[in-house]
Amino acid sequence: NSLFQEIPLAPPDVIFNLTATYKADTFAQKVNLGVGAYRDDGGKPWVLPVVKKAEQAIVNDLSLDHEYLPILGLAPFREASIRLILGSDSSAIKEARVTAAQTISGTGANHLGALFLSRFYLKGVPVYVSNPTWANHKPIFNNVGFETRDYAYFNPKNNGLDIDGLLADLKAAPENSIILLHACAHNPTGVDPTKDQWKAIADVIESKKHFPFFDCAYQGFASGDLDRDAWAVRYFVERGFELLVCQSYAKNFGLYGQRAGCLTFVLKNADAAARVSSQLAKLQRAEISNPPAHGARIVNKVLNDPDLYAEWTENLKTMSGRIGNMRKALYDKLIQHKTPGTWEHIINQIGMFSFTGLKASQVKVLKEKYHIYLTDNGRISMAGLSTSNVEYFADAVNYVVR
Ligand code: PLP
Repeated sequence: NSLFQEIPLAPPDVIFNLTATYKADTFAQKVNLGVGAYRDDGGKPWVLPVVKKAEQAIVNDLSLDHEYLPILGLAPFREASIRLILGSDSSAIKEARVTAAQTISGTGANHLGALFLSRFYLKGVPVYVSNPTWANHKPIFNNVGFETRDYAYFNPKNNGLDIDGLLADLKAAPENSIILLHACAHNPTGVDPTKDQWKAIADVIESKKHFPFFDCAYQGFASGDLDRDAWAVRYFVERGFELLVCQSYAKNFGLYGQRAGCLTFVLKNADAAARVSSQLAKLQRAEISNPPAHGARIVNKVLNDPDLYAEWTENLKTMSGRIGNMRKALYDKLIQHKTPGTWEHIINQIGMFSFTGLKASQVKVLKEKYHIYLTDNGRISMAGLSTSNVEYFADAVNYVVR
């Protein structure tokens, strides 16, 4: 017998499992709306043209070697990441009270942020996450010893934000709690607070001395506008909060497998920033020694070259524009069919995902009768829709809700 004979068998990951079932399906018109990665209108992964260009230049650069990066990562990449999320005119940057670590994409940023707080923040505080949230948030915090609790977020009655419930839960949370906030394009619902709602959220967080933990996995990908998608984070910084923000370059650069990300801290002063930085380096050293180079080099080249940067913003518009078009096309088809229910949320929600309001029983029929794959909570990835399957999907939805 093995030493590990008695350990429980863990269930497979829901999303990855869904993709495996989809792949095994031989039906010609099958549709995968589970996957959280951008697809072009032909249903194929899209390598951003600007990424191809930057990557080619890197491959051709004979001066580059394969030495280790520094423990905290590529310095110009970290600096550019800070400017990207906070805005280059941010007072926090001018006052040198910011520090960043290059991480293993957004997941690694969440992990390193959680690990740091588990060591250096107040002991025994809970982490509040939206109900629902990205499936990996709770495991990431639980893995470093945090208790996680839910705050109200999604209102199934109007497929929008339950702002009253949200504010009430943050008010009822013990002082100094850690509050995880999706900076933009909330996953899985696609529902974001308005500016006024963000202000009300900031008021409660301030009055209860909570710590804002921003997760920003979709900057530029959500609206096509990098500044607009960073608005909430910048607003909190302007108000003087100490906070951290996790950045992922998976979606906005299409660099999913390269694992390029960044964890940025905004502190009260430069001294605190230096202290935090030193401890991040110590934690990172024991975890991964130093982060991977290739993806960070691509991002670095684009962020620090004005021409490539301009091209990148166009590529972002291509992705967010196609997703917006699919939202509109789906909405129009459902209205045409006079499908029972209201469907405005499909066009009001933002980013990769939409919470359709479909029930698990309806999702089951979509899967079994139509070979359309999505998670049981009714979340669809808009990127899985295209001009060639949106009608098929709308017809199927129209059938299952009647
Ligand atoms: N945070 C949220 C809310 C996400 O949706 C994702 C990806 O789906 C991530 C973080 C991190 O992804 P990655 O580790 O691929 O950057």
